Amino acid sequence: MTDLASAPDPITIGRQLRHVRRSSGRTLDDVAGAAGISGSALSLLENGKREAKVSTLAALAQALGTDLSDLLQARPPSRRAALEIALEKAQRADSFEALGVPAVKIGPRLPTEALEALVGMHEALAAVQAERAATPEQARRANAELRDRMRAADNYFPEIEAQAAGLLRAIDHRGGPITRTAVDKLAAHLGFHLVHTTALPSSTRSVTDLANRRIYLPQPDAGQSDSRWLALQALGHVVLGHDVPADYAEFLSQRVEINYFSAALLIPETSAVHLLTRAKAAKDIAIEDLRDAYAVSYETAAHRFTNLATRHLDLPVHFMRISEAGLIYKAYENDGVRFPSDATGAIEGQRVCRHWTARVVFEQPDLSNAYQQYTDTKSGTYWCSAVVDRTANGTFSVSVGVPYASVKWMRGRETTSRSQSRCPDPTCCAQPPAELAQRWAGMAWPSARVHSHLLAAMPPGVFPGVDDTEVLQFLEQQA
Ligand SMILES: [Zn+2]
Repeated sequence: MTDLASAPDPITIGRQLRHVRRSSGRTLDDVAGAAGISGSALSLLENGKREAKVSTLAALAQALGTDLSDLLQARPPSRRAALEIALEKAQRADSFEALGVPAVKIGPRLPTEALEALVGMHEALAAVQAERAATPEQARRANAELRDRMRAADNYFPEIEAQAAGLLRAIDHRGGPITRTAVDKLAAHLGFHLVHTTALPSSTRSVTDLANRRIYLPQPDAGQSDSRWLALQALGHVVLGHDVPADYAEFLSQRVEINYFSAALLIPETSAVHLLTRAKAAKDIAIEDLRDAYAVSYETAAHRFTNLATRHLDLPVHFMRISEAGLIYKAYENDGVRFPSDATGAIEGQRVCRHWTARVVFEQPDLSNAYQQYTDTKSGTYWCSAVVDRTANGTFSVSVGVPYASVKWMRGRETTSRSQSRCPDPTCCAQPPAELAQRWAGMAWPSARVHSHLLAAMPPGVFPGVDDTEVLQFLEQQA
């Protein structure tokens, strides 16, 4: 492999030329004349503004009484030259131009001390920029690490539970679902005013004005679900003391925390644990009951169940949200179920087994009820309950499952539906049946739908995906 990094570039060659010429005490015109080019042409070469042909370089080497290989040395002739080269390159980069900062003229009058400082700052800036521009791979690793942390804590965060409980006491909440009015009270208690508007920037779900202590939320459609969730998420950032995220991993972890915070207020720990403990005693635990008792979505109830199940009910669990095509959007487990994963340990966008409850549910004629099934897998038998969730962004299934040993506490355990999953064995469901594959060999040419949200590089910026200009203009208008 050619090492491009060590090959000399026009800037480095130019510095070598100038160094050799000056050390021999000769002028531009003198050397240029001997090599058969003009003085201005040699000046352009020395400044790295033009790339020399090999024949020109050979003539210059001869005129200077040196070897061509000396001129082609990648190592700068001196520390000063190295700094000049580094600054020259940094100031020519597109990323520098984008900053709109004037470039410094690099000449003999620029003190070496200033050169050192400028080059140091350019290097630090490049490091920060590289960190901000998270690649999909970095994002996938961040997701995997976050899931490991959640599993280690059994998806239970006592500090956030305590914050939520304290706030509910402060607004004198008496249990049961938290109402819109209660959310308004909570915001007021924290010194914020909730404003509903139709003018919210399209790249945002809410905008918080920390100067005027206002939270802007979308105007809910008549009869539509309210904006309690979005308001609580926005308040979560404030209550949990979040700073502007330094990188994508911190952004992800803040998102998990505000979701936890919102769920802990919508489904308060004390009363939910009371409900679930009674259900366990009656061997009748059902996500639907949690959903209905707190007026939340099945997904919120299912996710909240994973927070409380292991800690308070001694039940290991798993949770999944997958698309109709079987791709994982969200998943959590501490019960040993093995999600498909890629080399980085990430599971987002991976396809789960066709025989899992989360996928079989799509084939059920009646999608209004939860579907239950036992599935034998390589890591044991699981019982799962799944529902189909139709949204503006597509159809998904949301499922919760427990290992066979814990099924005695769950409603719906009498189901006779059962399936076998041999995944990750490719003959389980990843490969088409042999007969079909043979009949259509070489005759099928599908075009894949691109899942841009899963494959695209992470959007740049402090708040990934948000149009900062749009947000600031919006705040200007409202202020
Ligand atoms: Zn399979």
